[in-house]
Amino acid sequence: MAQTFDLIVLGGGSGGLATAFRAARHGARVALLEPGALGGTCVNVGCVPKKALWNAAQLAQGQQLAVDYGFASTPGALDWERFRQLRHAYIDGIRQRYATRLMEAGIHVFAETGRFVSAHTIATSGGDELNAMQIVIATGGRPRRLDLPGFDLGMVSDDIFELRSLPRRIAVIGGGYIAVEFAGLLRALGSEVTLHVRNRVLTGFDAELVDGLTTQMQAQGIDITGQCNVSGLRRVDDDILIGDEVNGSCGPYDAVLWAIGRVPNSDRLDLEAAGVHVDEAGHVVTDAWQNTNVPGVYAVGDVTERPELTPVAVAAGRHLADRLFGGQADSCLDYENIPSVVFAEPPLAMVGLTEAQAREFHGDQVQVYRSRFTPLGLAVAGHTAQSIMKILCVGEDQRVVGFHALGPGAEEMMQGFAVALKMGVRKRDLDATVAIHPSSAEEMVLMG
Ligand code: FAD
Repeated sequence: MAQTFDLIVLGGGSGGLATAFRAARHGARVALLEPGALGGTCVNVGCVPKKALWNAAQLAQGQQLAVDYGFASTPGALDWERFRQLRHAYIDGIRQRYATRLMEAGIHVFAETGRFVSAHTIATSGGDELNAMQIVIATGGRPRRLDLPGFDLGMVSDDIFELRSLPRRIAVIGGGYIAVEFAGLLRALGSEVTLHVRNRVLTGFDAELVDGLTTQMQAQGIDITGQCNVSGLRRVDDDILIGDEVNGSCGPYDAVLWAIGRVPNSDRLDLEAAGVHVDEAGHVVTDAWQNTNVPGVYAVGDVTERPELTPVAVAAGRHLADRLFGGQADSCLDYENIPSVVFAEPPLAMVGLTEAQAREFHGDQVQVYRSRFTPLGLAVAGHTAQSIMKILCVGEDQRVVGFHALGPGAEEMMQGFAVALKMGVRKRDLDATVAIHPSSAEEMVLMG
């Protein structure tokens, strides 16, 4: 029998949950479909387990630093299995809290996939038919797979969280943030890491800081192989070898991680039944209000062509629900100046334009301020790794258009500067701010 709701949300990840909760708070009768684990990519195979691993990597590096400071201790290896169980328990807790909150909010959860029958009707994999005047597609994405010989000998990012032990020798293929993050944290935890990159790493970030990061990654022992064009993987005894059209055969490795991008989950939704348009890559095409081309059908998060970040999916979903059910007709997410962090070793953070983008848009008006220094915490122990901070300003009143930071603490420091950028901060405002000393963040207000 068909059931009718005010809103149907496809996907119980970051964007779908945020949309459903906000709509229910406004009094809407909501159905949420999620065939997998509540929380989607971020909670189960993304930000959360990745950040936990990154934290473990920080502790591994901290152990060595402690020895360099004079502590009488010997750095020990991570008990990988114990840590895997701790992570799982933590993530289970998040899922359970979501389940409780969904129940309390009166949201009808279907542990099933959905596909369109028409613009206002969804068929569930369990055979139900659901109707609503408003439907939100929040089905996210999945790791890209290639039709290459031996592809399945390697892992994708989802698989790495299930590893039962740390691979001794691992090759990471890709140059995006997921590749760089895993290369860094696996190296810090003790793996021998080779990063196979086709062109540059982290193309969306400021080139000067990316160069600083790659220098540090190489100093940590990460082998970065550039210009690679992987043609496949093959197994020889217990080892995996990479076939590379440019560099020949590479390896042997114990494990290979493909980190070659993600594809939107739009292909199994029967979107054509509703007439919803996707772009060439399969992203659902939306306008600034998350509208698709079909009235009453919307999309948020990674399934759209917007930045693939949890807070982006969440904010877009909340704005949409406020607009549809909260009487806020103009509510929409401002996609300008979204801060982002690569949890590399050390972290790289930015908000606003890179220097190359600033010069493209503002030409000669761009003024660059930068600071390079070894943070006190490292310098005391004789380490020389350099942090880099950079501020990009334009015009006579020196409006800031970009903040960039590479180094310990960058991941925490950037949020506040993102607020300042959103408020239209000028260089003179930074100059007028009293520093917090001794800190790395103070460099942002001390650049002359
Ligand atoms: P998802 O969270 O992917 O949720 C989509 C849900 O839809 C899934 O649960 C899926 O099961 C469900 N679904 C699919 N098809 C259907 C269907 N037909 N019917 C019903 N449901 C369906 N972002 C950050 O901001 N910071 C980070 O540090 C960060 N680290 C990351 C690390 C990794 C390794 C990865 C892979 C991603 C990371 N991200 C990070 C990105 C972040 O996880 C995503 O941007 C975010 O999860 C997108 O949310 P979403 O709701 O669009 O999609």
